[in-house]
Amino acid sequence: MKTAIYPGSFDPITNGHLDIIHRSLHLFDKLIVAIGDNPKKRPLFTIAERKAFIEESTRKLPVTVDVFHGLLADYCAQKKCFIIVRGLRAVSHFEYEFQMALMNRQLQPQLETVLFMTDKEYFYLSSTLVKDLAKNGASVDGLVPRIVAKHLRHKFV
Ligand code: ADP
Repeated sequence: MKTAIYPGSFDPITNGHLDIIHRSLHLFDKLIVAIGDNPKKRPLFTIAERKAFIEESTRKLPVTVDVFHGLLADYCAQKKCFIIVRGLRAVSHFEYEFQMALMNRQLQPQLETVLFMTDKEYFYLSSTLVKDLAKNGASVDGLVPRIVAKHLRHKFV
């Protein structure tokens, strides 16, 4: 059984994240979606809300949702799982992912990061963009799972 860890903020999960989850399950048997608890990012949704949205959107998949505090490299060691999945959107994004992958490997030499290219449909899609759209009354249908669209509408009424 090959398991990988997909870490991120997921504030909230989007169809871009889901695309990466589906792609990675072609390579791995199981995925742990790990929400990084980083209050400095001033998230819109609580950890519990983000966890519930991911669980609801991945109900039929071999996915478990977890939360980690502190360094991702430490969390991976604790889970004894040394494959990190990340998604690549724009080219500008590559440098950041590259830096993170090298830093994680420095901290934990067994760690490998696998980057999945997004679908062209989700190239522009991010949690930040979705929140901006919702805040300004635009529809987010088709960009996020239905449960997220519903809660975004409630947040900004
Ligand atoms: P972080 O704050 O750790 O970047 P995010 O939730 O923003 O957390 O992203 C988690 C991972 O999902 C990152 O690797 C990011 O590149 C990827 N991701 C986010 N949106 C998309 C998308 N539209 N297409 C592909 N990957 C994405």
